[in-house]
Amino acid sequence: MDVNEEGLLIILSGPSGAGKGTICKRLLKEIDVKLSISATTRKPRNGEVHGKEYFFITKEEFEAKLEENEFLEWAKVYDNYYGTPNEYVEEILNDGHNCILEIDPQGAKKVKEKRPDAIYLFIIPPSMQELEERLKGRGTETNIEIEKRLGNVCNEMEYLGIYDYVIVNDIVEKAVEKVKAIILAEKCKAKRN
Ligand code: 5GP
Repeated sequence: MDVNEEGLLIILSGPSGAGKGTICKRLLKEIDVKLSISATTRKPRNGEVHGKEYFFITKEEFEAKLEENEFLEWAKVYDNYYGTPNEYVEEILNDGHNCILEIDPQGAKKVKEKRPDAIYLFIIPPSMQELEERLKGRGTETNIEIEKRLGNVCNEMEYLGIYDYVIVNDIVEKAVEKVKAIILAEKCKAKRN
């Protein structure tokens, strides 16, 4: 039995292409963790399904949810709005499961004000060159979008101070092992913030 029986809230951020998504998928398969599904006004990419990767909603629908205080946090990222639904996250944690939020640093900062007891992980690529190659290789963004994402890396790094752990994702297996070890240690911690 773990010292902390309530689920752990895990915040995972990092530049686009750093490998957050791949790490999350592995964690979902390998440990007791659930991923929060965000709402976004961004258009679905090829293969993305409403209710799986995101809840794809209009700007008006997003604004209505904001009015109703339905988000634990929200942020504007690359011209689109993204928000974490409060209710879903609470449900996961109350059921005793660990819950991952894969969100940008602006959102992580907002969550920290409400939930300093969460654990904050920042995933970084081994180099900018590697990041550029990964973004080009995945083929889900246009060249302009890739430039935007690369240009945003310095802004994101400015938020590093709010994170508890920084993980360099050079070899995905190793990065996943590190995240799993951190979660295990945090579950056994006698005192939380
Ligand atoms: P993408 O459009 O590539 O799926 O995500 C773009 C960025 O938005 C990523 O950094 C991702 O972590 C972040 N993001 C996704 N969902 C949320 C959310 O609910 N809140 C915040 N603040 N950022 C999010």
